[in-house]
Amino acid sequence: MIGVTENFRKIQDLLAKAAADAGRSGDHIRLLAVSKRKPVEAILEAAAAGQRDFGENFVQEGVEKIGKCGRDDLIWHFIGHLQSNKTRVVAESFQWVHTVDRLKIARRLSEQRPVDAADLNVCIEVNIDAEESKSGVNPADVQDLATEIAELPRLRLRGLMCLPAIREDFAEQRKPFAALRELLESLNSSGLRLDTLSMGMSADYAAAIHEGATIVRVGTAIFGERE
Ligand SMILES: *Cc1c(COP(=O)(O)O)cnc(C)c1O
Repeated sequence: MIGVTENFRKIQDLLAKAAADAGRSGDHIRLLAVSKRKPVEAILEAAAAGQRDFGENFVQEGVEKIGKCGRDDLIWHFIGHLQSNKTRVVAESFQWVHTVDRLKIARRLSEQRPVDAADLNVCIEVNIDAEESKSGVNPADVQDLATEIAELPRLRLRGLMCLPAIREDFAEQRKPFAALRELLESLNSSGLRLDTLSMGMSADYAAAIHEGATIVRVGTAIFGERE
């Protein structure tokens, strides 16, 4: 797959630059390579270049790729919409789920996480712009959901994730990310200990990094446009 290695190096440099511009160390910004609808060869090329974290949106596709690429060296993140009848295979195969948006899903993941596996890392997806068409919990409901999820065994609640509406302007892009950061800060001041803000994609990672992103989810900038 021509270009993946080059793209990967380029995005690493761009993330480091965005971190420096934001006055942050790059050490706490993890690049999640979003490989949905891209072939296994592209994942393996990125892995050979040093990438470890991969994000998949579709359960069946993700599980097949995990089977082919392996789980010993790679870390797999589920970032798509999760239906309750598909939680078991996600709980068995992935190390992270970024898109928990209701207690029912969290309970099932908790019950279905194999006892011999490490705790499943989860983030709550927040509908930060309160868009009708988007999944995610409303900001006003995050506190209650987070408190309940934090009690569940075999899950480790790590933080919050969002997928804001597309905005062109940098200052505008920052606003929903700032709102997510403030939400995380308020959860932490209520006694939770969350360390993850999963926010920013190919078009807006710099704004997300300025607002404290700890995981940026980048697909197109690494693997090219999707079909
Ligand atoms: C596809 C996707 C991404 C990556 O988007 P790009 O614009 O290709 O970087 C990130 N997060 C989620 C939830 C996605 O579905």
